[in-house]
Amino acid sequence: MAKLINGKEFADNLCKKIAKEVVKLKDQNIIPGLAVVRVGEDSASKIYINMKAKKTEEIGMNSYAKLLSEDTDEKELIDVIKNLNNDEKVNGILVQLPLPKQINADSVINTIIPEKDVDGFHAINTGRLWTNIDALVPCTPLGCKMLLLNELKDLSGKKAIIVGRSNIVGKPMAALLIAENCTVTIAHSKTANLEEEIKKSDIVVAAVGVPEMIKGKWIKPGATVIDVGINRIERDGKQKLVGDVEFEEAEKIAGSITPVPGGVGPMTIACLLHNTLLATCRKNNKEFPRFF
Ligand code: NDP
Repeated sequence: MAKLINGKEFADNLCKKIAKEVVKLKDQNIIPGLAVVRVGEDSASKIYINMKAKKTEEIGMNSYAKLLSEDTDEKELIDVIKNLNNDEKVNGILVQLPLPKQINADSVINTIIPEKDVDGFHAINTGRLWTNIDALVPCTPLGCKMLLLNELKDLSGKKAIIVGRSNIVGKPMAALLIAENCTVTIAHSKTANLEEEIKKSDIVVAAVGVPEMIKGKWIKPGATVIDVGINRIERDGKQKLVGDVEFEEAEKIAGSITPVPGGVGPMTIACLLHNTLLATCRKNNKEFPRFF
């Protein structure tokens, strides 16, 4: 049976370390501040924003929420971002996606100054990531990398497959694993022979958004499986959260595997706070402790 990779425990420990650094900064009158912007009433967005705000305050940072109505236009939102860019109390800015259809998400994200882009989605941060210059890195793939390094220590020479090529998970994950000297395959909906590609891989990162699409028998014996997917399904009359990997079969074959929930999910928020601390340290010329 595969070892379970406990993302919740890892994330809790990371948050404790971040909280200690926040105390040290506060002793120097520096309080990290994270602003979250939500447009509209999307119920999932509300839940995510509340979770982020709660955790931000729990570890001693300031949390600022900008809640805008569904009919907000792009210019109004961009003005809000520009004000946050100029606000000295704010070290990180996050715009909760998805945005209503009248707003171009790329224009909004690229209005955030790269130094405060704690989601790491700005084109400058993307370019920096791919060219090995210190960047703010998207939170979910950063969390996956931390879990992989904690599990395997050295990723050099491993064959990794990432299923999914989104800008927020798949592509930055590929950049991070290339930097760790993995040989990386990026698969997507047009990939031929996905099963064969996965069977050759020492590391599988699944970021697809299709419940249990990656079958347990596709996993190479002993491989490390990171399941990013969060899918709500109904089974036996009950609501259930499952990943993109067929967990029950995969755990019989893999060497280690993240569960859903309790795997990658908690790492995403912990890495958001990690990035907010990093942005604060850089702004104030303070040393940033490398947690990993
Ligand atoms: P996107 O929908 O943006 O991307 C999905 C990717 O999966 C696309 O590249 C798509 O390919 C690929 N894909 C779809 N179907 C198949 C298929 N049958 N075979 C192979 N590839 C396929 O999703 P995200 O990257 O935003 O998210 C992926 C999953 O991760 C979701 O379940 C999401 O909820 C979850 N997630 C979890 C987070 C967490 O904190 N744990 C954070 C972010 C996301 P193509 O490009 O060809 O369309």
